[in-house]
Amino acid sequence: MKMRFLKTEAIVLKNNLISETDKIATLFTKKYGKLPAVAKGARRSRSRFVNAIRPFIVANYVLFEGQNYYYIDQWELIEGHTNIEKDLAKFYVASYVGETINKILEENQKSERLYLFLKHSLKAVNDLQIDPLIFISSYNLKLISLLGYMPQLDSCVICGKVDSMEYFSNSCGGAVCKDCKDKCFDAKPLHQVILKALKYFLKVNYERLQDVKVSGVIKEEVDKIITAYMKEHLETEFKSKDFIDKLQNM
Ligand SMILES: [Zn+2]
Repeated sequence: MKMRFLKTEAIVLKNNLISETDKIATLFTKKYGKLPAVAKGARRSRSRFVNAIRPFIVANYVLFEGQNYYYIDQWELIEGHTNIEKDLAKFYVASYVGETINKILEENQKSERLYLFLKHSLKAVNDLQIDPLIFISSYNLKLISLLGYMPQLDSCVICGKVDSMEYFSNSCGGAVCKDCKDKCFDAKPLHQVILKALKYFLKVNYERLQDVKVSGVIKEEVDKIITAYMKEHLETEFKSKDFIDKLQNM
């Protein structure tokens, strides 16, 4: 059997125990997409792989292909993201980010754009001080846009008019004006403050979100709209609400 080596940058989405001494990681690799990789001896403190698959690190890996798995042969850290490890709120937010990407990606599915987006988002979680719920809302909107389902928020989805956008429809794909609301069966009233927040969270860079403060009621309403919208278009449910509850109970 010819041994195949893969050399790639990757982000650790999560890891699990696989035996008394080994751990298995779900890696999102830049070149080969999502794949499982075993770190031999990772549970031993003296192993050179002990830190190789810490969740949310970015590293260069050399992997070799075994019969059932890939095995880590060498690794070199790029981003340790130690703030995520130290701060429980950051860790929950990063876990949400990791889980969404893991759910979206099929095994071996490649997407360099999604990879770079994940890398950028995790760096923001690590480096910036952003309200967790605001970060998750902004991340979700950016993610769904990257996947091709950007909600239309600047003008009515049906007629293109820019005023009286007082409704939101998942099936129509964004804001709907009051004259068109009957054309979208699931159109629900949309408060102007919520529309403004959705637009801002979608477009603004993570850096700018550090100074943003909005009330809990608005944050929750925004999250509810985005969660329902993602469920409709991605056909899978992301439990941002669970993460938010965890954070609020901290
Ligand atoms: Zn309209």
